[in-house]
Amino acid sequence: MPNLQQRDAAIVWHPYTQMKTAGTSIPITRGKGIYLYDENGTEYLDAVSSWWVTLHGHAHPYIAQRVSEQLHTLEQVIFAGFTHEPAVKLAENLLALLPANQKKVFYSDNGSTAVEVALKMCIQYAFNAGSRKKKIMAFRNAYHGDTFGAMSVSGRSTWTQPFGEMLFEVVFIDTPEPGNIQQILSQIESLADDTICLIYEPLVQGAAGMLMHNPEELSQLMKCCRMNGILLIQDEVFTGFGRTGKLFAADHLTEKPDIMCFSKGLTGGTMPMGITSCSEEIFNAFLSDDQHRTLFHGHSFTANPLACTAALASMELLLLEDTQKQIRMITEKHAQFAEVMKNHPLAEEVRQTGTILAWNLASGESVSYFNTDRQRIYDAFLNRGIIMRPLGNIMYLVQPYCITSEELDFLYRNILEVMDLFNTSQM
Ligand SMILES: *Cc1c(COP(=O)(O)O)cnc(C)c1O
Repeated sequence: MPNLQQRDAAIVWHPYTQMKTAGTSIPITRGKGIYLYDENGTEYLDAVSSWWVTLHGHAHPYIAQRVSEQLHTLEQVIFAGFTHEPAVKLAENLLALLPANQKKVFYSDNGSTAVEVALKMCIQYAFNAGSRKKKIMAFRNAYHGDTFGAMSVSGRSTWTQPFGEMLFEVVFIDTPEPGNIQQILSQIESLADDTICLIYEPLVQGAAGMLMHNPEELSQLMKCCRMNGILLIQDEVFTGFGRTGKLFAADHLTEKPDIMCFSKGLTGGTMPMGITSCSEEIFNAFLSDDQHRTLFHGHSFTANPLACTAALASMELLLLEDTQKQIRMITEKHAQFAEVMKNHPLAEEVRQTGTILAWNLASGESVSYFNTDRQRIYDAFLNRGIIMRPLGNIMYLVQPYCITSEELDFLYRNILEVMDLFNTSQM
């Protein structure tokens, strides 16, 4: 009888994985708190929140209990013509935390679909208004997901290359910095007449390598778009739910977006779900006696009651004073460690936004997702029981909030040791 790894390798195709050269996958049998365990009982500290989704730790008993109760009550119902308490309650609770202009909630299944919905809302908003605007703007190096619309508004890269000609055209603008903001503002003004919307990852561009920009310049840029009639789609799929130190990146900004996207931490990393919220103005543009103005979009599992319940339970946990204290603790400790890293000869561009810490490993090799250093570092951490997943030579920490101060020290110590080994090429 083949083992689980062999059965997997025989028939399962993994995401972002070159199946020819990738080693076999590590079979995980259970999770608890910040740790995952394989079938031999080996413990792995999940320093990347399992692709940035896990907020309160794995198999959280409170979320598990709430979802389990819901599973025995109502597991799924068609969401056209029907509704249910978890969907309504989640919309109420989420909107209460968002910028005051966010008034409606549209449910979908993941971050990419939340982005697709946001784009369709903007494009059809223009269509319903009889506008001839056509252009969509996005940030250079953006990442908004892997479906076609989301790929189109993402930076062109190796990932999107095979689909290049089939992606719709997007105007890519630089992320705002003190040095280029004036130039970006005039670029926006010159494109305004033909531009429907700007989509952006606020403060942190995650998949691009945890690239960060300031709230001040982003707010200026948002204000310029608003004054020029360009709709704003704020993609908080990654930054939402505490990652930036505040509940949402929106809480760092002085301007409000028209539309917001959520997923990843939304359910605490328990179940897949996406949300697109919008202003009354966007919503009203679809109200009509004419059926053609309807937003014809939906997914089989729209507002799945189990996912809504997981999100409700996760948001309760997030708002607990204990969790908020943890977020402050992580933010402070990261700031201290960032000072250490700034003096490290192999660390460049050390940067932090709240609970997200990142730096570039200076290695002589150019920055690339396919950097060979990446695999060596990934393996070195795995051997130490730590899941770190560098983006090329960019190293980062995006840990669940339940991590203890001692576990953070353990991580920092191992990072320094692995970087020393790397330095002396003993890896
Ligand atoms: C991960 C991510 C997405 C895509 O979410 P999926 O659930 O993976 O489809 C979209 N936007 C941002 C900012 C993300 O980080």
